[in-house]
Formats: sequence, C-alpha cells, structure tokens
Amino acid sequence: MDVPLKELAKLRAITEGTLKGRNPSIEGSLDSLLQTLYQVKNELETDSMSKDRLVLLAQTVEAKKKEIDEKQKEIYNAIVRLGKALDKAFTQPLPSYDPLFMSDDAKASLDSTVAVHFLRTGQFSAAEMFIQESGVTIDAEIRNKFEELHRILTALRMQDIDPALEWCSKNRQFLQSKSSPLEFYLHRSQFIRLLLACEAPYQPALSYANTVLRNYYTEHTTEFRRLLACFTYLPKLEHSPYADLASSTVHTDLESLFATEYCASLGMSRQAPLKVVGDIGAGGALARIEKARTVMKEKKSEWSQSDELPIEITLAPENRYHSIFACPVSKEQSTEQNPPMMMVCGHVITKDSLHKLSKVNGRVKCPYCPTESVQTSALRIYF
Ligand SMILES: [Zn+2]
Repeated sequence: MDVPLKELAKLRAITEGTLKGRNPSIEGSLDSLLQTLYQVKNELETDSMSKDRLVLLAQTVEAKKKEIDEKQKEIYNAIVRLGKALDKAFTQPLPSYDPLFMSDDAKASLDSTVAVHFLRTGQFSAAEMFIQESGVTIDAEIRNKFEELHRILTALRMQDIDPALEWCSKNRQFLQSKSSPLEFYLHRSQFIRLLLACEAPYQPALSYANTVLRNYYTEHTTEFRRLLACFTYLPKLEHSPYADLASSTVHTDLESLFATEYCASLGMSRQAPLKVVGDIGAGGALARIEKARTVMKEKKSEWSQSDELPIEITLAPENRYHSIFACPVSKEQSTEQNPPMMMVCGHVITKDSLHKLSKVNGRVKCPYCPTESVQTSALRIYF
C-alpha cells in the first residue's frame, strides 16, 4: 500500500503547489493574474496607459497561461502515476455483485444512513452537501441533536466540562437507569486537573472533593477513595500506584464515553454503523469472502445460503454483538429456522440435529449423556 499512498501524497502536493521548484497551484496562478488585472484596472482609472505597460500585461497573461498549462500537465502525469500504482497494488479485480440498493426504499435508507453518518461524525458541511444532492430528508431534530453533541465534544476537548454536565443533569434519569458513570467521570476529570495544577495544601482540589465528589461517594466508593488517596503521592502521582489517574486518557476517554451515552439516549447504536461496516469489510472480511467464493467456484460448489457466510470471519472483540451458538453435533451455526434447542437433561443441540436424532416414536437419546427424552419436550434457547 506504500507506493499508491506515496503517489497520492505527491499528487496532493503538486495540486496544492507545495512542492519545491515546481509551479504554484492553479489557484495561486489565477489569483496572481487576477491581482495584476486589478492593478492595471486601477491604473487605467487614474492614468492613461503606456504602450509598454500593455505589452508587459500581455506578456504576463501569456506567462500565467503557460504556467497553468504546465501545472495541468504535472497534475495529469501524477494522476496517471497514481493509477498505475493502484493497478499494480490491486491485481485482483473488484468482486462483482448483483446491483445493490436498487429499490427506492433501499436507496433512501442508504442515503439516510450516509447523511446521518456525516452528522454523527461531526462533518456538517459534507452532510449538508450530501443532503442537498441526494434529496434525502433528515429530521431537523436529528441535525440539531448532533450539532449539540459536537458542541459539547468540542468543549470537552477544550477541557470545559460544563456543557456536558448540563446535558447530564437534563438526562439524569436516563443515565441512572443504565448506571452510567459519565457524570462522575466528568467530575473525576475536573478534580484531577485541579489536583495536578495546584500546590500544597491543594485547597482547590480538596474543596472540589468536599463539595462535588462527595455526592458520588455511595455509588463510586472505591474510585472515590482512590481519588482522595492521590493526595498522599503528590506531586509525583505518575510514579504512584495511582499512575493511571495521572494519564491523559482519564480526560480524553470522556469524549467517546459521552458520545456513546448521547447516541444511546437517541436510541442509536454505540458505534457508527457505516464505520463498523467499513472496518469489518475493509479489515479483510471482503477479501476473505471473495477468496472463498473463488475457491468454491473452482470446486464447483456454489455458496447458496444468503444469510450465512461461506467461511468463518474472525471479528475484533468490539464488533462482537451477540453470542453465537454452533451445534456440537452438526457443527453448524444456529439460525432463526434452525434454533438451538435444550433437551430435558440440559444439553443443547440445534433443531435439525434434534430431528435427525429422533426415533419414529419421537424419543431422542441425548448424544452427550444417557438421558432419553421426548422431542417435543425440548425448549428453544434464546441468546
Ligand atoms: Zn444430555
């Protein structure tokens, strides 16, 4: 991937005119030409123009034109080089699929997912442009909510916890219902900042602990005690058993925690869906599925099940959302049509396996213990 990235960086530098010894950017050339023209216009208004001046102007225009032509050539060559580097890096053609997102409903859902992604990740101008061009309707309320989210996140980045605290107090019931530590962590961050900024006898930090942190003692007793014990190790907290509290992550982690809680309050997932799709797909899953497809085609065994993957794709822990049951008899993953069933002995196999093991009279002998039971007494298990 190194070569295409290098070529891309070069293309950008050439376009922006930041490469030494090369022509300035096209915008730069046009701007300087415009400036010359304005200058001449001003001169014309106040004074008559000499012939020499006009000749010079014609030369300047010609020179700028040449500069821009050369620049365009430079950019074109850089694009060609990048294209070649990409062809070299990606020898496999992109997999071809049946056209996706063709129905109006599917197209609208995709557009709205992309627009919400831009809003959620704080790319408001890109979102506006996308909404305008795609014609998708996004609830004004959602836009306002995400603008508020990013206003609060920006404040947090500037070490201002007040807007976040204000949101917490408005949504206290929601936060309490899911035992969120957000509010306490905001105060913890503030307390540590005070603690590390003040000198003995640490009055500002002490009074913050006494007036604010004290309210969280019952819910966060252990952490509260750890915070107060920090005083004994000052001013060398980073070389103490409480070094983790001196780390900058105590403050920076607040942003993602806040964003998670904020999105949860809107009924949205913990992670941005498009990011998850991109991370998993581009993280190797797509390439592995494509390889499996090719191998299966060569072996003349087509992959037919639409709701099942042909191979196991290992996901990062943060992308595992629910438990998966694999039948110990058939080794297949359970599905909605073939769910896990628990027999009276407590052993679980999938429905299909249960059917296969049943005798004509409906009795099943558990494959894992001596118990025999009736097929109909098995219970479906929900994960
Ligand atoms: Zn059993």
